[in-house]
Amino acid sequence: MRRVTILGATGSVGRSATDVILSHPDSFSVEAVVGGHDAVALAHTARTLNAQYAALADNSKLEILREALTGSGIGCGAGETAILEAVDRPSDVVIAAIAGTAGLRPTHAALRKGRRIALANKESLVCAGRSFMKDAQRIGADIAAVDSEHNALQQALASGERSDVTVATLTASGGPFRTWDKQRIRAASAAEASAHPVWSMGAKILIDSATLMNKGLELIEAHHLFDLAPEKLDVVVHPDAIIHAMAQWRDGSVTAGLAAPDMKIPIANALGFERRLEMPFPRLDLAAIGQLRFERVDEDRFPCLGLARAAMAAGGGMPVALNAANEVAVAAYMAGQIAFYGIFALVAEVCDAFSGKAHRTPESVDEALAVHDEALIFAEQKLMTLTAR
Ligand code: MG
Repeated sequence: MRRVTILGATGSVGRSATDVILSHPDSFSVEAVVGGHDAVALAHTARTLNAQYAALADNSKLEILREALTGSGIGCGAGETAILEAVDRPSDVVIAAIAGTAGLRPTHAALRKGRRIALANKESLVCAGRSFMKDAQRIGADIAAVDSEHNALQQALASGERSDVTVATLTASGGPFRTWDKQRIRAASAAEASAHPVWSMGAKILIDSATLMNKGLELIEAHHLFDLAPEKLDVVVHPDAIIHAMAQWRDGSVTAGLAAPDMKIPIANALGFERRLEMPFPRLDLAAIGQLRFERVDEDRFPCLGLARAAMAAGGGMPVALNAANEVAVAAYMAGQIAFYGIFALVAEVCDAFSGKAHRTPESVDEALAVHDEALIFAEQKLMTLTAR
């Protein structure tokens, strides 16, 4: 019986994790669940999973949470101390699925406790990768990748020595605009950008998938998680989303990770530790799929990937600035303040401005968040000048 704590329990990954856990009642017990703003959904999840404790980020909704948990015997709290209380409680694995930079502190706190981390929060590694990996190594905490590409790559890489890898490739579905021309993409609405052809995900990551910034952030994540040099990381568009990642070895062999595109598969893998969980998935029927298609990324139509690559190569605080600018830009796009390529324009401007001053690599979560806040303010100022034009 393994004790699980879920950070981000009411989000897309959290809900899939809930399904996996519920299908293995003899393997897992849930210690704590953490949510953002939806007190009613969190209470429902806590009851469904029979958790011991529920913590909500939003302080103002503690009464709603308390009321929704009345009679359940489940303890609860709200705000940062409650989230840290959830992390502090004894567990064997913490699913880190809080979206955005809000996930950094709780994920790092869980890591410092030596918990196994089932990592779904990209920003932890994008912003504070060096600090996370250094601390994980020092403490002996395992990080199991939950993101489908990284989970596939982690499994592929297990078949050889890291130094023998010549290239590691992440696949991208290509998003909703894969076949659109630039004129049409230019005028695309946020609703069109949110219509992902393969995966069901949260609102921000849907836009990141349409710009391919998501794939760029994933490259940076892979760079830290697997200690692979930027030039050894590649992306190929694969709209069928069956191969999630592959590693080519110096002898020419390629080890690929394949699975149906369902987040429950990488989650089950990350939660299974060394013993694989039994999951009710049908045999992968490649003959029924018929063909697997691959395309190069068109960086003219999807220039955000190049920005992310450049930030990864620059290192230091640059990926932090990139990520912060992207957060501001995506929110502005979703609010109708800028057009689709305005996301690229804003992120490029911020990265440009930071190229002179973001040389220092954040050595801690605090340092990473300081750079994040600085870039956030700068991006918001840039946004005002962009929209005023
Ligand atoms: Mg992914």
